Amino acid sequence: MRVLVVEDEPDVAKHIGRVLTAAGFLPEIVSDGETAQFLGDTEDFAAVILDLGLPKLDGLSVLRSWREAGKTMPVIALTARGSWRDRVEGINIGADDYIGKPFEAEELVARLRAVLRRSSGHAAPEIIVGGLRLDTRTMQVTVGGVPAKLSPLEYRATSYLLHHRGEVVGFRELYEHVYGAGESYSNTLETLIGRVRKRLGAGLIETRKGAGYFIPDKPA
Ligand code: CA
Repeated sequence: MRVLVVEDEPDVAKHIGRVLTAAGFLPEIVSDGETAQFLGDTEDFAAVILDLGLPKLDGLSVLRSWREAGKTMPVIALTARGSWRDRVEGINIGADDYIGKPFEAEELVARLRAVLRRSSGHAAPEIIVGGLRLDTRTMQVTVGGVPAKLSPLEYRATSYLLHHRGEVVGFRELYEHVYGAGESYSNTLETLIGRVRKRLGAGLIETRKGAGYFIPDKPA
């Protein structure tokens, strides 16, 4: 899943990037509010981690403009420790959660996973479809109780489709959430989904011709 990380302190940004990559996400890092606003307006992100103190345009203004434009992706605000006014204002404007700096990597990941679960309409940390089970806390995927070994790319694709079960996920949308935007498309994704099907069972992921991939919410 693509996660936009907006943070102007290079060390903090790099750290968040490493942590999110290790947790199975595809982070895209930008360092100023204007670029963040533009990307959030024009591209699709599963969630945003948004520092509030930013050059060019502050984080609260960025968040306000997204919400006024009807953008609903979950946003976690990064605030300086003790700045309760920022946190209150952030939540009033439409932040889904906040985290004070400095923070523990595990806490950021736990909060990110929680807002993603809530935004997909399911509060439980495990996603269960038939015999398939994804534990979003441990990144463990099991089929009939047996752990499935997935590569990082296979995990990203599986996790995104499971978070959007019951919906047709467009080829381009899935591609961007696995590989990032602006890449060539070709049949890379098809090959990847072929590998996932081998690991999880052929019947789980349906292809909707000309549209995308589909995992039923409650398969027979
Ligand atoms: Ca900052």
